[in-house]
Amino acid sequence: MSPLRLPTSPVDVVVVGARVAGAATALLLARRGLDVLLVDRGRYGSDTLSTLALMRAGVLQLHRWGLLESIVAADTPPVRTTTFHYGEAAVEVAIRAAGGIDALFAPRRTVLDARLVDAARAAGVRVVHEVRALDLLRGESGRVNGVLLEDPLLGPRPVRASLVIGADGANSHVARWVDAPIERSARNASGVIYGLWSGLDLQGYHWHFRPGVSAGVIPTNDGLCCVFVATTAGRFERELRGNLEGGYHRLLAETDPGLAARIATARRVGGLRGFAGRPGFLRRGWGPGWALVGDAGYFKDPITAHGITDALRDAELLARAVATGGDQELAGYQESRDDLSRDLFELTDAVAGYDWDLVEVQRLHLALNEAQRREVRHVGALDSAWALPRSA
Ligand SMILES: Cc1cc2nc3c(=O)[nH]c(=O)nc-3n(C[C@H](O)[C@H](O)[C@H](O)COP(=O)(O)OP(=O)(O)OC[C@H]3O[C@@H](n4cnc5c(N)ncnc54)[C@H](O)[C@@H]3O)c2cc1C
Repeated sequence: MSPLRLPTSPVDVVVVGARVAGAATALLLARRGLDVLLVDRGRYGSDTLSTLALMRAGVLQLHRWGLLESIVAADTPPVRTTTFHYGEAAVEVAIRAAGGIDALFAPRRTVLDARLVDAARAAGVRVVHEVRALDLLRGESGRVNGVLLEDPLLGPRPVRASLVIGADGANSHVARWVDAPIERSARNASGVIYGLWSGLDLQGYHWHFRPGVSAGVIPTNDGLCCVFVATTAGRFERELRGNLEGGYHRLLAETDPGLAARIATARRVGGLRGFAGRPGFLRRGWGPGWALVGDAGYFKDPITAHGITDALRDAELLARAVATGGDQELAGYQESRDDLSRDLFELTDAVAGYDWDLVEVQRLHLALNEAQRREVRHVGALDSAWALPRSA
């Protein structure tokens, strides 16, 4: 990493965190002509914890921003059906064609996050990986006006900015430095174990439910399927944490013996990854000179596979607010984010509690479907031209 890549003069916006939320926000701001610095302590193109599934609003955003083609070109398979398995019963739902998309996708994060970063760079964002944000800078009034970055060669370097955006994930440092209050908390959390499998001849998303457990199959790049199992965080802690391998196969067999039998004939690529769970939250999303986007401001249990989709949604809501105004627009950003998130948040929390039977979980899924439709309508009604490169 060259130290010369950190700017010495002030920029309009510094975004801390260069994954789905941060790279998308930086991209959209740069397309509106803002001077943006995007930093991440991690490496370009690296992987992260995720079972990869995008929902309709997320796919729609990538399409509207002109990025879906390059993701499809990376050999990301189309998902044309979603099948819900409730015990022995299966309900298959076809993905309908609307808004220019006729399939869902679940790109590896090495593909999705990298494509967003590439697009941000192409839009003029200065992107610097392997640089950590150490602290925020403030003016006399206390307003945030920059960030202290750790240049690996030169040490701590201040970069001044009109706005600092924390897109640095659920453990956000930016949120901690501004003391962003948590305004809504979830009660439940689920533990998840997942792995990637080759030779699993399954099409579409499959979500499996039995009281106390769930599993999913998500087709991704290179002919692989991500297969996860999930249960309460309490059970994960008691039974699974110390033996991911044994726990994974036990939960698969418990959730769906047919799926477990298929896995027995497939080949795993790489190790298993575990997530012990953490209850969701909605944090205050903005303040003087700062804003939060993605998991930094709004985290929910992964059981409804909606974090990436919401991060892309909120990237555009925030970018629109920043590009058009000041604090009032930032307040509007939070209002829209919270309004669109409330039902998804509560319903996700209910599913993550595993305090349901198969009738109740179907009711929760129907309500989730309604909340997602509302989100799709909101995203679909945004003016696409706004988010495209200016010359497009
Ligand atoms: C087990 C699991 C499965 C999931 N499955 C799905 C799924 O199937 N579908 C879905 O939609 N969502 C899923 N999610 C949620 C999804 O992964 C997140 O919502 C999404 O990654 C949030 O993106 P983000 O950009 O906000 O934050 P992150 O992806 O967390 O990225 C934050 C970035 O900030 C950087 N950073 C942090 N601190 C600093 C610092 N001080 N300085 C510089 N950089 C910093 C990090 O290096 C990181 O790259 C899952 C989550 C988990 C845990």
